[in-house]
Amino acid sequence: MIAKKQGINSTSHAVYPLRVVRLNFFILYYEHMFIYTYGKEGVNYMHNRIIFHIDVNSAYLSWEAVYRLQQGQTVDLREIPSVIGGNEENRHGIVLTKSIPAKKYSIKTGETLFSARNKCPELVVVPPRYTLYMQCSSAMVEILKEYSPTIQRYSIDEVFLDYTNMECHFGEAVEAAHKIKDRIRKELGFTVNIGIGNNKLLAKMASEFEKPNKVHTLYREEIAKKMWGLPVEELFFVGSSTAKKLKSKGIMTIGELANTDPSYLQQWLKSHGLLIWQYANGLDDSVIKNNGVPMKGLGNSNTIAFDVTDSITAHQILLALSETVGTRIRNANKCAYVLSISIKNDHLISYSHQRKLDVPIASTNSIYENAKRLFNEVWKGEPIRHLGIYLSSLCLNDFYQISLFETKEKEHKKLDEAIDKIRVKYGCHAVIRSSFVNSDLSPLMGGVLTEEEYPMMSSLL
Ligand SMILES: [Mg+2]
Repeated sequence: MIAKKQGINSTSHAVYPLRVVRLNFFILYYEHMFIYTYGKEGVNYMHNRIIFHIDVNSAYLSWEAVYRLQQGQTVDLREIPSVIGGNEENRHGIVLTKSIPAKKYSIKTGETLFSARNKCPELVVVPPRYTLYMQCSSAMVEILKEYSPTIQRYSIDEVFLDYTNMECHFGEAVEAAHKIKDRIRKELGFTVNIGIGNNKLLAKMASEFEKPNKVHTLYREEIAKKMWGLPVEELFFVGSSTAKKLKSKGIMTIGELANTDPSYLQQWLKSHGLLIWQYANGLDDSVIKNNGVPMKGLGNSNTIAFDVTDSITAHQILLALSETVGTRIRNANKCAYVLSISIKNDHLISYSHQRKLDVPIASTNSIYENAKRLFNEVWKGEPIRHLGIYLSSLCLNDFYQISLFETKEKEHKKLDEAIDKIRVKYGCHAVIRSSFVNSDLSPLMGGVLTEEEYPMMSSLL
C-alpha cells in the first residue's frame, strides 16, 4: 500500500527508485514468506512421513505355488526344495527365485541351475510364467490402492505405499500393515513382508528383516538399534564389490559406515560414497512416484449395529460417512463429478442411486447434501443395515472447471482443510460436529467399500 501510494502521489524521478526498492522488498518479503511456509510444511511432511514397503516373499515361486494349488495339485512348491529357473536350453539357466527349503541347500538367486542341481539333486525346477506374475502383482496392487492414493510399483513384487495421514481411516501403521498383509494372504494366497519407516529407504530395509509373512518397523529413532549392527553389504545399494572395498578399510557394519567421515567417503568412492553414507544414516528424501493405475473412485460404507428405520438417523450416518470419504478425496487432491449412495436393507438386498453433478465436489458438506438428497429420492422406507457413499469421475482438485456456483464449495473446502489438519495433528475425534455430541453414532464412519459388496456399483468403474 505504501509503495503504491508513493508511486501515485509523485511522478518525480527521485521517488521512482524508492518505489522500485519498496516493491522489490515486498516481492522479496512475500517470496520469503512463501518459501518459508512451504519449506516448513515440506520439512514437516518429510519428517512425519509413514512409508510402507510391501515385498512379496519368494514372489515367482509363491505365485506359481498358489497357481498350482488352485489347479488341484497337492504339492506346495514353497514347502519343498524348488526354484523358478530360466530356460536351460537357451543358456538362460539361472535361479530366479528359490523356496526356503532350497535356501537350506545354500542355493542362491542368480546361480546356474546346473550348480543348484549339484547342491540338491531332487531340486524341482519350474520355468517362469510372466503373465501369471503380472496378474498376481496387479491383484495385490488393487488391494493396496484401497489403503492410500499414493503408491509406487517399484518392481513386479515390490510396492511403496505412502501411509502418511491415513491413520484416521485404517488405524495405526503397524496395525494397518498387519491388516494388509493378512488380507493379501487370505484373498490372494501368498505372503508378503511389510516394512514401515519414515522414508522409502527405511521402509525397504525394514521389509528385509526376518521373513516370511512379517511386519517390521524401522523408524528414524530405531536406526542405531536395528540397522547399524548389520553387515555393510546388507545396506541397500552396497554391492559386493563396494562391500569388499569398505571391509578392506575396516568398515564392516552399517553403523561403522554411518560414522565414517562423509567427505572421506566422497573423495574415495565419489558420489556413490556419499549416497551410501546417507543411506547408512537413514537419510532419503525421495518421493513416491505415483505410477499406479489412476484412481477411478473412492467410497466408504458402514454396516450399522442396529436396523435404521428413520431418515434422521440415516442422514446422520451419511454425514459420518461424508466426513471420512471427504477427508480421503481431499488427501488424494481430487474432486468428484459423480456421487452414488448404496443401501442394504434388512433382507440384505442392496440398491444404489447416483447423480452426475455440474460442479465437482470435495467438501464434506457438499458430499453430505448430495448424499442426503439421493437417499431421500430412493429409500423405500424399509429397515437399513448398511449405507455407503461412493465418489467417481474424479478430476484433479487444482484444475477443475470454475463454475458460477462454486463459491460456497470453495469456502467449505477451506474449512474442511483446516479440520483435516487439526485431525491429523490432534487425532480423528479432536473436532466433531455438534450433532454427534449426544448421539450414540460415531462422528466418523466407514471402512472401505468393495466392489463385491456392491456389485451394482461396478458399472461405475
Ligand atoms: Mg520379493
